[in-house]
Amino acid sequence: MKIFFKNLLFFVLDLFSSRPKDKASVLMYHSIDVNRTFFTVKPEEFARQLNYLEKNKFKVIKLSRLAELVTRGKKIDDYVCLTFDDGYLDNFTNVFPLLKKYNFPATIFLATDFIGRTMTNSQGVTLPILTIEQIKEMTDSGLVEFMPHTASHCFLNEVSPEKMEQELTEAREKVRALAGGQADILAYPWGKFNDLVVGYLKKNNWQAAVTVNEGLVDKNSDPFRLKRNSIDSSTSFVQFKGKTSGVIDNYEKIKKWLKH
Ligand SMILES: [Zn+2]
Repeated sequence: MKIFFKNLLFFVLDLFSSRPKDKASVLMYHSIDVNRTFFTVKPEEFARQLNYLEKNKFKVIKLSRLAELVTRGKKIDDYVCLTFDDGYLDNFTNVFPLLKKYNFPATIFLATDFIGRTMTNSQGVTLPILTIEQIKEMTDSGLVEFMPHTASHCFLNEVSPEKMEQELTEAREKVRALAGGQADILAYPWGKFNDLVVGYLKKNNWQAAVTVNEGLVDKNSDPFRLKRNSIDSSTSFVQFKGKTSGVIDNYEKIKKWLKH
């Protein structure tokens, strides 16, 4: 029933919302495959979503480009960024061919301790992670950029300052060594961070960081608290459309209002 009302609300809001020309949507994916994990999107569904973005002329850009615009307070267009957390191997087998087909860039966040190994998620499902060779091939295509997601996928709001420094430095250096670039945009594991973490990032020349809070990004957004919209197995197509348009901001407002 809850799902029905969520879809209904997205549908109704869609009738009254227009696509904002000066806001961007950063989409957050994990695995694109057929498995029993809540965060996994089926390849056909993912292809349908990319097709929608192309048909509706969304400008898909790399997250680093968007972060640069936000940092400089420059004009944001109705951009979409595709981001993938954890670096699952299916990002190479199922995502990469579609990125090439549509010529859409993407950003993948790596928890560097897991490269070439496996990762077990909160549901106890173990999935393989990208290998060094795959990371290099994707980088060489120019379509995919890699960014750090800490070394061990730790809770940054809970670790000691020393451990935080080690996690962030190690991950950034490893990603730089593997994929080049500045590798200075962080995805907070589990979306967990606090003012100490943000302060550290600012002091140590990180450019930006992405959260798991939903909504759109505009030129006034805090670069270290960039919102992302989660696309997972529970995301219906009407919700996907809403998360690339103004609907998501109105939905979040209503959600907040209902809680009070
Ligand atoms: Zn993660």
